Amino acid sequence: MAKTYDAIVIGAGVNGCSIAYNLARRGLKTLILDKGEVCSQASGQNGGGVRQSARDPREMPLAMYSVKLFENLAEELGLNVEYKQGGNLRLCVTPAQEESMRAAVDKQSQAFGLPVEYLDNEAVREINPYVSDIVLGASYCPTDGHANPMLVTYAFLRKARSLGAELRTGETVREIRLSKRHVSGVVTDKDTYSSKIVVNAAGIGGRKVANMVGLDFPMTPVFTEILVTEAREPLFPQMIGTAASDFYGHQTEHGSFVWGGFIGYDTFLYDDRGKSERRPNYPEVAPAICRAVLRFFPFLQDVNVTRVWSGLIAQVADKVPVLGPVSDVPGYVSATGFSGHGFGISPAVGRVISQAALGETPDVDISAFVSDRFRPVN
Ligand SMILES: Cc1cc2nc3c(=O)[nH]c(=O)nc-3n(C[C@H](O)[C@H](O)[C@H](O)COP(=O)(O)OP(=O)(O)OC[C@H]3O[C@@H](n4cnc5c(N)ncnc54)[C@H](O)[C@@H]3O)c2cc1C
Repeated sequence: MAKTYDAIVIGAGVNGCSIAYNLARRGLKTLILDKGEVCSQASGQNGGGVRQSARDPREMPLAMYSVKLFENLAEELGLNVEYKQGGNLRLCVTPAQEESMRAAVDKQSQAFGLPVEYLDNEAVREINPYVSDIVLGASYCPTDGHANPMLVTYAFLRKARSLGAELRTGETVREIRLSKRHVSGVVTDKDTYSSKIVVNAAGIGGRKVANMVGLDFPMTPVFTEILVTEAREPLFPQMIGTAASDFYGHQTEHGSFVWGGFIGYDTFLYDDRGKSERRPNYPEVAPAICRAVLRFFPFLQDVNVTRVWSGLIAQVADKVPVLGPVSDVPGYVSATGFSGHGFGISPAVGRVISQAALGETPDVDISAFVSDRFRPVN
């Protein structure tokens, strides 16, 4: 007989673990299934940015709610997740960038009440004396920051398990069973499980999982690369980005710098639908990230890179996730397609997805993220 759960979460990344934790704390007998290991995809590869500034307006309420949750997360989960609310600087080097950054800052503070302002070069240097002379100014959001993605994921998982959630890794979900269109369970390559709630938190595998219940949306894996350096004494706490997205990154609690970036032509090369999820490293990418970083932070030229890795972003065509239940398939709940910024909102995603799965009104409106937004209009 199939083992029975109140809820099954497909995917043991940061969002799957956050959702499982929130379901377990609401008393649901929860099972997390992952075809690989915990953090084996994007959640184990990412840059750790917890950012509200420069968010898509549809995501801003979720991002702001998430920062509130991050502020107490270590205490709530009982683990230091290396959360540092050191602010975010988005650096500008041309007058045109300055002009559009000032406009963006005004919009974000007026529309959402986000504490964000434009700083000139002198003011930037007061909070980060290491930026080079090419920097004309920057947007600054003091409540943004960064955390350690692996620690956050494990903290959610550990707490979920302490509340009774179970984890099975190395088990691939092959089928979601329906009974009269309502979700009734899943079939994996190893076993069969019954549940009236199934959450799709499968990252780049999320489209394939959605296909199992007859849904589809435009999502494709996008290649990106990231590197880490040897450690230095603590120099600055901010998360750094640039107006032209040359690179992004921060200094970790351990002292190393983590810098990531794209170089353009490497995007949209991978197709997760039936093909592999391989992640080659292009020899051009890490040097390009280093060159970009050194233009802005020349003092880092003697700091060695110790490791480079790549990752795949679950990119939806309109660059925001697919979240929430689907009226045609009761019991199925989507939490995928985070489009390269799903770590920073993971605490909020856990809250709102668990609430939506239980048929409650989520703390933050997620109606902009429905799967239906891609259906053709008759
Ligand atoms: C290099 C890089 C840098 C990034 N930097 C940032 C950043 O600074 N800030 C930020 O907010 N975000 C960042 N992101 C994005 C962020 O990492 C992701 O949005 C987030 O980790 C997604 O988490 P997830 O739990 O939804 O999915 P994942 O971590 O991708 O987990 C999905 C899991 O589902 C499992 N799975 C898939 N299909 C199945 C199946 N059929 N059966 C069972 N299991 C299955 C997979 O094995 C995987 O473990 C970055 C991403 C990358 C790649």
